[in-house]
Amino acid sequence: MSQKVQDSQHSTIRTLLILGASGDLTGRLLLPGVARLIAAGRAKGLTLIGAGGSQNPQESWQQRVDRVFGAAAEGCNASGRAALAKVAKTTAYHQLDVTAEGELAALLASLTGPVAIYFALPPAVSQRACELLTAADLPAGTRLVMEKPFGSSAASAHQLNATLAALVPESHIHRVDHFLGKSTVFNILGLRFANRLLEPLWNSDHIQQVEIIFDEDLTLENRAGYYDRAGALRDMIQSHLLQIMALVAMEPPATLGEQDVRDGIATVLRASTAAPAKSRRARYTAGKIGRRKVPDYLAEAGVEAKNNTETLAEVEVSIANWRWAGVPFILRSGKSLGRSRKEAVITYKSVPHLPTGFRGTDSPTKLHIGFGPDTLQLDLDVNGPGDLFTLNRVRLEAELAGDSLLPYGEVLDGVLNGDPLLSVRGDTAELCWQIVEPTLDAWHAGKVPMEEYPAGSSGPADWPTSNDHSATRIR
Ligand code: NDP
Repeated sequence: MSQKVQDSQHSTIRTLLILGASGDLTGRLLLPGVARLIAAGRAKGLTLIGAGGSQNPQESWQQRVDRVFGAAAEGCNASGRAALAKVAKTTAYHQLDVTAEGELAALLASLTGPVAIYFALPPAVSQRACELLTAADLPAGTRLVMEKPFGSSAASAHQLNATLAALVPESHIHRVDHFLGKSTVFNILGLRFANRLLEPLWNSDHIQQVEIIFDEDLTLENRAGYYDRAGALRDMIQSHLLQIMALVAMEPPATLGEQDVRDGIATVLRASTAAPAKSRRARYTAGKIGRRKVPDYLAEAGVEAKNNTETLAEVEVSIANWRWAGVPFILRSGKSLGRSRKEAVITYKSVPHLPTGFRGTDSPTKLHIGFGPDTLQLDLDVNGPGDLFTLNRVRLEAELAGDSLLPYGEVLDGVLNGDPLLSVRGDTAELCWQIVEPTLDAWHAGKVPMEEYPAGSSGPADWPTSNDHSATRIR
């Protein structure tokens, strides 16, 4: 690691306080991430504290930690198991109402040393808790970890940024986008900037379009309370997909220090706009995913028709700079689709002239960066077997190792070691809202029709992104 990168880091923090100990995020994603980190020896001397609103949650905090850490210990060596057992033995739970004046401040005052406070709470509760903390003296070195959604508009994100800025310096605020902790997502930088082959062609002279697709075959998974108020555009595109787009489109940073990388991300987002007229939205109707019957979205428990929520969204982002002018970046995400498809697809322009005499048509070169499973695929035309002059499509494919720490482990590693590289900077959080807000407003005003697709299909048939032929064209 370069000296500059090291200089941007801060001291290691030994106490992690998770607010929202009994919540879904903590149980499913955060604690497994903490466990991986401990088992890998990257959270030495950690004190883990849980806090929540309930005096006696259905599964106690100790039971929860033991269950998750026990599962993590199964794949671990002896030192990893010992480290997990040590943290599980010393963990503690505190019941409190973070929206009651003084309660969170009193808990913080009772802890020794600086603390990383993870707000795994409903967004409005986190906001209120932070507002109340402005009246308290936070211990020096306190770090704040904020979950998504960060605000609900550019204005509310700005307001939340102002509240947080009154508490701690920007470098101590970690706005979580766990996609940045996914190894393949971050490896976009390695792929682009550690290989001479790609970067000279990485611009509007050679690239036709970029698609960033996150189609899920999952449905609501009991999260209607959140999803029905968010929808696909806010839930996925406003945050995760714009971050991926920024990594695909940014200029080469001088270092992997947080300032260089996050400046690069912010610069490209500042040049980005999404025209509402080019957006599309749709909602799933009853269908089948595999053998599983899926009801119409509006018949799902917890869904209210008046929210008029989309379950599939697509926007076309334009980046007004020298490198990308004229190249559409198509961002799409949705639920209840027939196939899980999570990838960035870079489509190159056709060759200027295909020598006369080749049989068959040339197809554009495509680079697929898969985000789960983690893969790299390059689709090329070659003279394959058989007729010497006939073009055949081949796919060069590499499977990449999965995330060893899990995305939340990587993010927490940054939190505990004081490196905000993998978290979203305040200005970027506001920029992402600014990009999608005109589309959200147009949708709210009914200017873009709500289309439909049967659950288990690939989306509305006339959307070009619903018809990914790249796999079938390959012979
Ligand atoms: P849950 O509703 O499952 O959990 C909320 C937690 O907050 C509970 O532990 C609850 O404690 C606690 N809580 C609520 N009000 C108070 C209060 N006044 N004082 C103290 N504790 C309180 O939410 P999730 O875990 O699903 O989500 C948490 C955050 O993470 C949200 O911002 C969400 O958007 C974000 N997120 C969640 C994801 C997920 O998959 N779940 C994915 C990505 C982000 P108790 O029940 O004991 O009162």
